[in-house]
Amino acid sequence: MERQEILKIPTGLCSDSLIWHYDKNGEFTVKSAYLLACSRQHETNMDSTNMGLSSGEWKHLWKLKVPPNVRVFLWRAILNALPSMDNLVKRGIVQEALCPLCQVADESLMHLLFYCPHVEPIWFGSALGLDPRQLGVGCFVEWWKNFSSSGSCSSFWYAPRTLALKPERSIDNPSRPRPTTQQSQSSWSKPPHGTLKINVDASFSPNTGFATLAMVGRDSNGAMCFGKTWNCMALSPLMAETAALFKAIHFVENRGIHQAIFESDNQVLISSLQQSLRPLPWEAKTLIMHIRHLCVCHPGYSFVFVHRNGNRVADWIAHSSRTGQCPSYWAHRPPNILLKLLLDDVAST
Ligand SMILES: [Zn+2]
Repeated sequence: MERQEILKIPTGLCSDSLIWHYDKNGEFTVKSAYLLACSRQHETNMDSTNMGLSSGEWKHLWKLKVPPNVRVFLWRAILNALPSMDNLVKRGIVQEALCPLCQVADESLMHLLFYCPHVEPIWFGSALGLDPRQLGVGCFVEWWKNFSSSGSCSSFWYAPRTLALKPERSIDNPSRPRPTTQQSQSSWSKPPHGTLKINVDASFSPNTGFATLAMVGRDSNGAMCFGKTWNCMALSPLMAETAALFKAIHFVENRGIHQAIFESDNQVLISSLQQSLRPLPWEAKTLIMHIRHLCVCHPGYSFVFVHRNGNRVADWIAHSSRTGQCPSYWAHRPPNILLKLLLDDVAST
């Protein structure tokens, strides 16, 4: 039957010829070839900008009931187009990708949004109660696909904000042992024999966020045993001073020193270490928690608030280092001005 139908088709009416089927007349023109090339290029671009999301997933994102800037932020995160340090390195804008907040890992998109120790408590303390370490995904796109398909993305915008509305919600363990503390000091005093005194301070520029952290260790004779400075970015003087203390504890711990008095002229910082139930200032929270953890293993470490007058040495080192007025060899060969401050401290005890 089919064969008969096929045989009915007239043949031989015209000879075979080449047909350009992209044109409705079947004729090749440069214009039609150009339009074809353009449309194929467009399709290729569309594929490359999909970046793992289907068109339906993109539509879902653009319809989220969140402020437009949040949608744009998500779009940029999915395209890995946020100015994370590793992206800035790729573009030759900065030399080093180290995270300016924690200084322990390179700042990739995932570090910036989830894994930085400064970010983890925000997610965990939010209404989502998200523990970034349990994500189990390798990239933001993967996380977003899982998260958006779980139906919780309407809370994406609101969840981290709830942390700010509930400052009393603490992720600390209130039963955690407190670091030992001593009474405050109005001037510098020598530590007891066998114990080192570590004065810490930070100099912070609110305009640039640049901070220099300083630490100086002295023995029971008032002699300077060691000193060190570090540079970092910070959000506030408190964060910088907390970072200075954190770095100093690590430094002292690595030297195998078990008896040390750490002095700071930041009352909030020292009070935060003294009172484990006190709500912690958010920008220093992670570091303070780390310090508390460290001190569980070091019962010989104590923390003292000292008035500025008693912390002049560390203050001078931090400030003059940040402003470029302190020679780099200060810890080995103190310049005259620092020598005078050190001698004044000894004389005042
Ligand atoms: Zn970090």
